[in-house]
Amino acid sequence: MPSSVWHPFTQHGLQEPVPLVTHAQGAALYTADGRRVLDAISSWWVTTHGHCHPRIMEAVRTQTEKLDQLIFAGWTHEPAEQVAAGLVEIMPRELTRVFFSDSGSTCVEVALKMALGFWSNRGIDRQRIIVMEHSYHGDTIGAMSIGERGVFNKPYEPLLFDVATVPFPEGDGAATLEALETHCRGGAAAFIVEPLLLGAGGMLVYSPDILRAMAEICRRHDVLFIADEVMTGWGRTGTLLACEQAGVVPDILCLAKGLTGGSMPLAVTMAREEIFMAHWSTDRARMFYHSSSYTANPIACAAAVANLAIWREEPVLERIAALGARQQAMLDRLAHVPGIVNPRRCGTVAAVDVEVTDGGYLSNLAPRLMALFREADVLLRPLGNTIYVMPPYCLDDADHALIEAAIVRGVETV
Ligand code: PLP
Repeated sequence: MPSSVWHPFTQHGLQEPVPLVTHAQGAALYTADGRRVLDAISSWWVTTHGHCHPRIMEAVRTQTEKLDQLIFAGWTHEPAEQVAAGLVEIMPRELTRVFFSDSGSTCVEVALKMALGFWSNRGIDRQRIIVMEHSYHGDTIGAMSIGERGVFNKPYEPLLFDVATVPFPEGDGAATLEALETHCRGGAAAFIVEPLLLGAGGMLVYSPDILRAMAEICRRHDVLFIADEVMTGWGRTGTLLACEQAGVVPDILCLAKGLTGGSMPLAVTMAREEIFMAHWSTDRARMFYHSSSYTANPIACAAAVANLAIWREEPVLERIAALGARQQAMLDRLAHVPGIVNPRRCGTVAAVDVEVTDGGYLSNLAPRLMALFREADVLLRPLGNTIYVMPPYCLDDADHALIEAAIVRGVETV
């Protein structure tokens, strides 16, 4: 029977049928037709510890027998309290408040609303959001507004709001810092950025020094600094947070994906106390007007509690360091493959570009490569002409070698 499913970010005219996955373990997906497929992008950058981590699965199973769902407006439950307490403990101590939501896009929307509410509730007219060129923050309307404009959001342009954009940092980032200084001086509500690594924009890396300088400019001009660590958080860049490497503490922090070890949809927006206090009032007009039905779903929170325990009790950072070293060794070899250029790495994320005359996002290069990788039983989704590997931290040497071989074969074939 033909499927009725309409898939996200899927070119239905080019990719049929869609593989059917029945189960997964660690870095491997198993399909209905009996294949073992390596999940080289952690199922959209989320399954940090690998699929079906036993401690997370056990926590979910146990929670399903206690409390499935609870309205979170004015009510609370143990798993949410534990997640909030656990986050406050391991994240920068200035971030004292935890607001729950359910995806990367929504925690970004929440961050934007918190920033605007902060200024509005204090009677200060600041509404402009400053963003970085090539950024991606999600696909809801606010998140699209602050992301790169292009083919992905052209039809929805009338729904998007205006922002001020700084260029992606090149070299010492002088042009970026100058533009940020100018926009901040003009008075803005907030600057939002993906720290150290722009993901969907093409796995573009910039230095901790530039990140630190950007945060300092914001601080000097009293512009809120929002770190979107939806992708970079939970060890992706080598440390728990990417901001850590620059010694930067954001005013607002967005976390999702690896928050539950990638097992359940959950996100948080963490904020400094003064941002919470700007919404603390008996005046009905000043409360924070945001929620969704599944805010802080108890089963998702139980998965996040287990993830926090894994971070506390297992050598996650050692695994990340070992994976990063293997990623680097792979890049050093790939650098010699004809047709491969710009090898780069940030923590556990390795990326290369395929040298082509037409590798634009709309070219057929990415779908062709993706099909070749699928034939090699490796799940990789190039971004235009950029091939990147962002595997679960449990990936072993043998599987890493299979991914590398698939990349070499794929590039040779196209
Ligand atoms: N922010 C960043 C930096 C992301 O990379 C993503 C997704 O890849 C998002 C936000 C949106 O997250 P979600 O897909 O969970 O809505």
